[in-house]
Amino acid sequence: MGKLKVIIVGCGLSGALLGNGLARHDVDFEIYDRLEETQTAMATKSALERTHWLIQQIVRLFGAASDASEAPVIVDKNFKQLLDLSSFPNYSRSAPINRVLLRDFLCDQIKGTGRLHYGKQFTGFEIMNPGKAEEQVRVSFKDGTTVDCDLLIAADGNQSLANKQLGLNNIVTLKTHACFLTKNEMPFSAYRSLPKELLGSPILMSADGNTLYWCVYLPKKFHDDVSGQDGNNAASEALYDEEKASCMLGVAVPMEKLKGRAIRSLDDKEKYDLISSGFEGWSPIFHKALELCQNQSIHGYEARCGLDVPLNWREKSATKEDIKKGHPRVWLMGDSIHPMLPNRGMGGNTAMRDTAEVLPRILKLKEAAAGPDPLSIIEIKKQCQEYEQDMIPRAFEWVQKSGRNLEVRKAYLPTYP
Ligand SMILES: Cc1cc2nc3c(=O)[nH]c(=O)nc-3n(C[C@H](O)[C@H](O)[C@H](O)COP(=O)(O)OP(=O)(O)OC[C@H]3O[C@@H](n4cnc5c(N)ncnc54)[C@H](O)[C@@H]3O)c2cc1C
Repeated sequence: MGKLKVIIVGCGLSGALLGNGLARHDVDFEIYDRLEETQTAMATKSALERTHWLIQQIVRLFGAASDASEAPVIVDKNFKQLLDLSSFPNYSRSAPINRVLLRDFLCDQIKGTGRLHYGKQFTGFEIMNPGKAEEQVRVSFKDGTTVDCDLLIAADGNQSLANKQLGLNNIVTLKTHACFLTKNEMPFSAYRSLPKELLGSPILMSADGNTLYWCVYLPKKFHDDVSGQDGNNAASEALYDEEKASCMLGVAVPMEKLKGRAIRSLDDKEKYDLISSGFEGWSPIFHKALELCQNQSIHGYEARCGLDVPLNWREKSATKEDIKKGHPRVWLMGDSIHPMLPNRGMGGNTAMRDTAEVLPRILKLKEAAAGPDPLSIIEIKKQCQEYEQDMIPRAFEWVQKSGRNLEVRKAYLPTYP
């Protein structure tokens, strides 16, 4: 009778959420992240502040669950409507959440168990005693330490090392565009300053090689109560809940505009200058959105996204020379297998959804390991396959819907088996 030992590398949204599930079901696990604890947003907060934040988040998550965005409207640079995607009834809505704070909130729940280890950079895995009853995964860290486990869950994000070691290698960086994203609170004064075109459905626009996504999230009650009225009057101010109102601006500009500079070397002013240079000749409505965000910090990044993964990718990757390739004791979760462009705000949601499919399968393995016979590789393989058969079609539908367009596929597919 044995005990299943699970290691998770990466304590981001999916790793932390799975850690909570494993802790609740008394699974023997450890979770490692390369970040130092001081790099997390909650590190500087006191226990009281954390509790306060936790309550706020619960109210925000569950109380405000209906504050979701509508389907976007596609407009041209003169703000002429081209297509209203809400006419497609299956367009899914999404609700805003601060992903860094959510991650820290989830980590906070595991910290008390002593199973979360910061400052541990995963550098690779090996399969020990391959093919024998004692087969295990050895996980190595940059500080020279190792830990052994029966199952390694790689939740190490969109630069996943485990993905490469497994021989999947399906994650590409989009070199054509530099992407910028800012999400901000929206006080009533800001709300009043915006033209009505920016207060309704989200806006999608593509012109002059740039793309823009704009979205406001207004509390549903406010939206319902002021619709059809002048939203700028005193009565509407009383209804407006500043804690729940926010906006998001995402822009992609052609990479050549950076003239060889790295995105991370730009300060916020330089980022906004670059973005606004692409707005020349566009309707003043777009400039209003930009003006509202201009004093806020903006995140610049090279987008990464996942190329399609066939259901039999493990068999295809397997080689006699390298037992690690496609090995079923290492499972990929979240951005480590299906990173997507941020346009639909579904990367975190999809990553967290994976945990709902991983957890029951780990529990089955725990049960099998507790039986009289050693946990068999056949059982591990079966659970791994079942997880991937559910996860791959679901997650890659979102990768596609999030804007991995034909150009991306054409550019990379010839080199991708
Ligand atoms: C600016 C921005 C805004 C976004 N907004 C949204 C949104 O509104 N809605 C949404 O659904 N999604 C959003 N996303 C996407 C979302 O954040 C990701 O899809 C989600 O975080 C993926 O979760 P994950 O657990 O797979 O990976 P991550 O959350 O990226 O976590 C990976 C973890 O692994 C750790 N790690 C990486 N390498 C190693 C290593 N070698 N050793 C140890 N640890 C390692 C990292 O430190 C990190 O903690 C956004 C992304 C960005 C960049």
